[in-house]
Amino acid sequence: MEENIVKCEKICKKCLIEKDYSEFNKAKGAKDKHHPWCKGCLKERNNTESAKAKRKEWKRKNKDRVNEQLKQYKKRHAEKQTIYRKKYYDKNREKILKRYKNDLIKNKDKYHQKAKIYRENNKDKTQAAWKKYYETHEEELKIKRKQKYWKDINKNREKQRVRAKRDREKRRLMKIEYRNNNREKVNATRRKYGEKNRDKFLKQYREPKRNLDARISSFMRQCLKGNKAGRRWESLVNYSLDELYQHIESQFTEGMTWEKLSQGEIVIDHILPRELFEYKYPEEEQFKICWSLKNLRPLWFENNSKKSDFLPDGRQARHLMSEEKIEYLISLGHNLIKEKELIYG
Ligand SMILES: [Zn+2]
Repeated sequence: MEENIVKCEKICKKCLIEKDYSEFNKAKGAKDKHHPWCKGCLKERNNTESAKAKRKEWKRKNKDRVNEQLKQYKKRHAEKQTIYRKKYYDKNREKILKRYKNDLIKNKDKYHQKAKIYRENNKDKTQAAWKKYYETHEEELKIKRKQKYWKDINKNREKQRVRAKRDREKRRLMKIEYRNNNREKVNATRRKYGEKNRDKFLKQYREPKRNLDARISSFMRQCLKGNKAGRRWESLVNYSLDELYQHIESQFTEGMTWEKLSQGEIVIDHILPRELFEYKYPEEEQFKICWSLKNLRPLWFENNSKKSDFLPDGRQARHLMSEEKIEYLISLGHNLIKEKELIYG
């Protein structure tokens, strides 16, 4: 019994303590196949600064050998490593993913920058990959897009509104260009559409507010000679269709009705005649005065013809010089100093 215990123990040459064989590293060259120093003593020796420096120096000198050894070791244990790694991953999946995610968030800009540079350097590759992905995931992407759109519906509607507003001017110009380049085609389509919806339009046109809307719009277009440029008339003045409607109605005299206005017995009259004003664009002050709500009223067609472009003082607006017109408007209290300066220099 005692002999047995002695047999499986060994005295360390360094600390001289008797220890179990498992406390010694295996060593092929040794008599008893074990290192003379115990594990604790070896560890202590290897941990000294000089030992560390020595090891480092040796590794540096034998770089190729070390690398080759490492390579061989990896090769020998490749299968084991894979299994071990997989096991580790399965066991610590959540931890690893969390760490990965945190790293992504923390270094977001860095990764974005890196990805951007990669995409720029590999444009063809990236585009091809995208194309392939789109083709193979078409249905899936469609559904995803839809879901995403509806999820942020309010935000998306706001975005659309902003985009529409931004592109309004661009689209308007594009429309005009298309119309000019395809005049016959556009006219034919319009004619066809008009014929098809004739009854509907007639009915609409008899509706007083719609009628007033159409009248004022075409009147203004005629006066601006192309500079209305497809814009809604309400956007060029500081009142709405409703306000105009009420303003006109409030000035109806004995016997006046909207029906008579839509039939042309009554017209919209400019109190200061249109011939008194000289403007090209609706942004100009003279346009604003001419088309201000205050300057508009309903008038019987006959009275309007008699009135023509006569001013209250008996002069005819069309016979006045530009400066006379402006002087007259200024005398009425309108601020046209800038326009006056333009004329007198
Ligand atoms: Zn020892």
